[in-house]
Amino acid sequence: MRDVTTAQPRQDLRQEQQDRQDRQVQDLAVEPTPLALLLLGRDADPRSERGVECPGDLPAPSDPDLVARARAAKERLGDKVFVLGHHYQRDEVIQFADVTGDSFKLARDAAARPGAEYIVFCGVHFMAESADILTSDEQKVILPDLAAGCSMADMATAEQVAECWDVLTDAGIADRVVPVSYMNSSADIKSFTGEHGGTICTSSNARRALTWAFEQGEKVLFLPDQHLGRNTAVRDLGMSLDDCVVYNPHKPNGGLTERQLRDAKMILWRGHCSVHGRFSLDSVRDVRARIPGVNVLVHPECKHEVVAAADYVGSTEYIIKALEAAPAGSKWAIGTELNLVQRLANRFAPEGKEIVFLDRTVCFCSTMNRIDLPHLVWTLESLADGKEVNRIQVDRKTSDFAQLALERMLALP
Ligand code: SF4
Repeated sequence: MRDVTTAQPRQDLRQEQQDRQDRQVQDLAVEPTPLALLLLGRDADPRSERGVECPGDLPAPSDPDLVARARAAKERLGDKVFVLGHHYQRDEVIQFADVTGDSFKLARDAAARPGAEYIVFCGVHFMAESADILTSDEQKVILPDLAAGCSMADMATAEQVAECWDVLTDAGIADRVVPVSYMNSSADIKSFTGEHGGTICTSSNARRALTWAFEQGEKVLFLPDQHLGRNTAVRDLGMSLDDCVVYNPHKPNGGLTERQLRDAKMILWRGHCSVHGRFSLDSVRDVRARIPGVNVLVHPECKHEVVAAADYVGSTEYIIKALEAAPAGSKWAIGTELNLVQRLANRFAPEGKEIVFLDRTVCFCSTMNRIDLPHLVWTLESLADGKEVNRIQVDRKTSDFAQLALERMLALP
């Protein structure tokens, strides 16, 4: 049981913080997220996990020589540089990637190139952290815009997760809970996971990770994407929605009673992807009405009702493979980030495959889009001039526990 004399002030503080936040939310009529997404531009949010300004004197986006400058700087660097391009990046950036893929594949690709001194990660902050954890000490991971964070990763801070663990401890269940954290989380959260006996998962192996976790304990704390956790538990492991509860870090005790925590199998962190979270049941109904015979294929970061209404569900790599294998004349509506969907639509159009975006509204990942050609040019030219910029470094202790969690993932059966 909670020690009342020490717990009470924290409880009061939490309540006061919650009341204040509720008032702010009422004023703004928005969902409470700890960090507002940055608008596209050069500013940084000093409260965020990325937390630093991008100091570069960037070339103008209108500079007609940007492509030639990026090419020339990359040639000057030669084998010293290895450029990673996440699937959700803009075409103007992807054209300079030595390899493309999802975040985990890219981090492993970087580790497999020990000769490359600079790993320029065209992605977001948590991805660069993962690359730093998995590469050697001699390799330096560079993020072209330090303000390229991830709204989902930002929804679980180290302090919030430590407080959650206190709540689980006070409820008497922490020793039966195994943390499973999605790759899309900060190094701090991966480290917490490793230190508390848990594993990392990707959207491709979430089922195996959960199966493993339930062999180690009775309950899972799934961080930070509630949708991937719920979809995997219900679709793949046959649990019911009632087996899942949502821990809200903005409410005292996560907004849950001790009984709810004790009864739950899946304790889902209240986080989500701001891109995939936009797809709705109406998007699915609308596209089926507009395009008869369309196949709806969505990412498991989408809400449960969207996933339940789709024909196919899978990771980014699954989506690409499904479209590669699709017959000519087939029609597809894809529920994932727009840069990737547009690229796939262009790639498969000559094969007679019709591919559309699932929603009518534009749905880019705004933080991913902060990495643009001016930032890439500035990064490559700085490195070629011998000036190391925007290095992402995870401290040793955090890195060691995070690596432990990643190794558990690699060892999953
Ligand atoms: S698409 Fe979603 S999960 Fe991926 S980087 Fe953007 S906000 Fe984060």
